[in-house]
Amino acid sequence: YVSTSRELKRLDSLAMSPIFSIFSETLLGLTTVRAFRVEGSFRAKAEHFLEESNRCYWPIQCVNRWLSVRLELTGTFIVLSSAVVCSVLDVSAGLAGLAVSSALNLSGLMSWMVRQTTELEVNMNSVERLVEYDDTPREAPAVIPERRPLPAWPTRGEIVIEDLQVRYRPELDLVLRGVSFKCGPGEKIGIVGRTGCGKSTLLSAILRIIEPCGGKVVIDGIDVSTIGLCDLRSRISLVAQDCVLFAGSVRSNLDPFSMASDDDVIWDAISAAGLRETVQAMGGLDASVAEAGGNLSQGQRQLVSLARALLRNSRILILDEATSSIDTATDALIQKTIRKSFEASTTLTIAHRI
Ligand code: ATP
Ligand code: MG
Repeated sequence: YVSTSRELKRLDSLAMSPIFSIFSETLLGLTTVRAFRVEGSFRAKAEHFLEESNRCYWPIQCVNRWLSVRLELTGTFIVLSSAVVCSVLDVSAGLAGLAVSSALNLSGLMSWMVRQTTELEVNMNSVERLVEYDDTPREAPAVIPERRPLPAWPTRGEIVIEDLQVRYRPELDLVLRGVSFKCGPGEKIGIVGRTGCGKSTLLSAILRIIEPCGGKVVIDGIDVSTIGLCDLRSRISLVAQDCVLFAGSVRSNLDPFSMASDDDVIWDAISAAGLRETVQAMGGLDASVAEAGGNLSQGQRQLVSLARALLRNSRILILDEATSSIDTATDALIQKTIRKSFEASTTLTIAHRI
């Protein structure tokens, strides 16, 4: 019984996940589902998964009934034998009553014990899953106390890349095959190439979003693979190809760690990014930003991301097609801003328009 119910429970949990995923998928895409009038097929899909899950749930109930019948039978047998023994030994009526009622208690206790034992084992399923998650490979530590760079690092902004090799997964081919270049302090470097040639990958490797499998990245004399990820990423500003905004206010998106001394600094960054009118129309710094920046356009999200970079004013700035979704006039404005505000910073720019 124990091993069967454990395996059934596992099947049941497995069959449960698709129900949750189809449910959340449907909720997320509700407008699309309704627009295309495919409610029927989504309902059929949900019902199918529900049925699958019931197919696993039903045997669990049956197995439980099976156990109950066995336990009750055993209990009845104990009661019967105690009654028979009492009559054969001819004990007093009081003693016989005590014996029979104890036997009745015993059968209850016995089934309780068996159920608790199996329940413990069945619920250990979740512990097993946790252990499995614990075994997944982890990112490097955020901070390595004995190898922290100086607070002002990088002071010059020199980037040296030597024979950098990157692959996305161990079984895949190399995406970057031994890239080497040197970028002096304050230099502005443009990175161009056809789609899918590994431009974004290079930036991910510098920020150690993917760990390089060979070669090294040295920034101001420090090999970035030797320091903590938080120390590395907090010192470099990035405007990515697909910008990430969080649900919250404009302020919390621009200055998530409340580092700015006052609002004027934040407004300056917003103006420099050409976003002043947009933010004013939204209702100021405390206007709300929807989940994943849903109430802003793609281009506006890039501008918010740029304003974030302006606010941090790092020594190293990385732009990954930062103006790909922005009109030419705003683009020109942004380029001027970048030239002015990041005059002293080392800048790596990926652009598809040379
Ligand atoms: P684009 O100009 O379109 O932004 P890119 O030069 O930035 O292109 P990358 O995103 O760096 O290109 O991708 C380089 C290569 O890495 C691609 O050929 C792609 O197949 C591969 N690649 C990218 N992301 C992954 C991933 N998450 N898993 C596996 N391979 C990936
Ligand atoms: Mg890219």
